[in-house]
Amino acid sequence: MSKEYDLVILGGGTGGYVAAIRASQLGLKVAVVEKGKLGGTCLHAGCIPSKALLRSAEVYATTKRSEEFGVIAKDVTLDFQKVQDRKNKITDQLFKGVQHLMKQGKIDVIEGIGRILGPSIFSPMPGTISVEMNNGEENEMLIPKNVIIATGSRPRSLPGLEIDGDYVLTSDEALQMDSLPKSIVIVGGGVIGIEWASMLNDFGIEVTVLEYANRILPTEDHEISKEMQRLMKKKGIKVVTGAKVLPESLEKGEGITIQAEHKGETKSFSAEKLLVSVGRQANVENIGLENTEIIVEKGYIATNEFFQTKESHIYAIGDVIGGLQLAHVASHEGIIAVEHIAGENPIPMDYSLVSKCVYSNPEVASVGFTEEEAKEKGYTVKVGKFNFRAIGKALVFGESDGFVKLVVDEATEDLLGVHMIGPHVTDMISEAGLARVLDATPWEVAHTIHPHPTLSEAIGEAALAVDGKAIHA
Ligand SMILES: Cc1cc2nc3c(=O)[nH]c(=O)nc-3n(C[C@H](O)[C@H](O)[C@H](O)COP(=O)(O)OP(=O)(O)OC[C@H]3O[C@@H](n4cnc5c(N)ncnc54)[C@H](O)[C@@H]3O)c2cc1C
Repeated sequence: MSKEYDLVILGGGTGGYVAAIRASQLGLKVAVVEKGKLGGTCLHAGCIPSKALLRSAEVYATTKRSEEFGVIAKDVTLDFQKVQDRKNKITDQLFKGVQHLMKQGKIDVIEGIGRILGPSIFSPMPGTISVEMNNGEENEMLIPKNVIIATGSRPRSLPGLEIDGDYVLTSDEALQMDSLPKSIVIVGGGVIGIEWASMLNDFGIEVTVLEYANRILPTEDHEISKEMQRLMKKKGIKVVTGAKVLPESLEKGEGITIQAEHKGETKSFSAEKLLVSVGRQANVENIGLENTEIIVEKGYIATNEFFQTKESHIYAIGDVIGGLQLAHVASHEGIIAVEHIAGENPIPMDYSLVSKCVYSNPEVASVGFTEEEAKEKGYTVKVGKFNFRAIGKALVFGESDGFVKLVVDEATEDLLGVHMIGPHVTDMISEAGLARVLDATPWEVAHTIHPHPTLSEAIGEAALAVDGKAIHA
């Protein structure tokens, strides 16, 4: 069977399904091809399930210290099956929501594995999509005017370190665990590794993080990494930076033992399980790219600023093009691609305006340049910093570690970057994001009256601190 469309989207993850909704709003006839479940990694194996587990871990850890708040909770125990049930319920609810949105937008969802064909009887240009149907029925042929590739990514491992789903896991398997191990070694101290380290530690598990770089969260501002490392250690997490893990040394038995080179010595680390969180690999294989002129560079599909590939009617967005592999980036890229297809003249994406979050305990959030990046780019910077321990609401919450840091161009007063570590900062970063979009100066940020008592007062104080005017410093 063959059907014609204005747009076919390969992959119904956050990038793909959001692009489909925007296309439907713009009056395009659109189909999404999805081999798994609508919502993709973010909904089923990423953002949402991991945050649901993090929240349970936070509740557990807070309940265990409830006496601090004058609340006596005796015999606090964890029912991990219920934790998983709650996570699954949230995911299911959101999955139904996405299905509903597809129906509402009259978007055809084709369940199967899509592959791009070369020029054929259906079209003189590459781009016809052949779908191997999940239900075993005959392949469907979709003949689109435009295609968006949004096939996402999958966990990467270290060469030689085989993921067996039992002893050695990625976040995919870890999210499905039906019980918690007593101890874990996490290879990789990036965002996913640190979120898992924090969560498992809050669940009461012995955690060791092995990070190759000389600091955890290596893409964050140096001071944020340093503070995070201090706070992780304070929580009882063993963090080893500058550690080169030797995959071939892995031994399995009662649990795992793995070696790493560290400061010129070879050291052994043992635990019940090993979690590998060393980044993600784009899904560029078996989607028919060889039938097109599309270029794959360093494992990612190459595009221009409107996400067109070398085949100008075939676009690519989200994790499959690399860069910032985040859900809100994938969906924003999808919207720009669709608006370009529809001739809407969208504004290209400015990645320095994207907020990045780490949902550990404490949280990290940032937007714009780090202090080091700003200096490398030739700016002379001034910095305003304010600690949460001087913020009343942070003390009320019982979570007063961390700070807000503003990086400002001394010459123009432009706000170059905002970096936060502390309670609920992921919910506060959008103020900084808006300030960057509007090109606000620290003075304007400080002039925005922050209600008292709120955690957001730390942003106002940090803005005042840029010129040494913080009130509660
Ligand atoms: C543990 C974890 C936590 C994360 N937490 C966050 C977070 O808190 N915030 C955040 O912003 N980001 C987070 N991310 C990243 C986020 O999940 C991704 O950036 C986002 O899902 C990318 O969206 P996408 O649409 O590009 O790809 P995906 O969501 O991966 O979707 C791709 C879809 O394409 C489908 N597909 C692939 N090939 C084919 C084919 N040939 N035919 C049909 N369908 C196909 C797949 O089944 C999948 O559903 C997290 C990731 C992980 C792993």
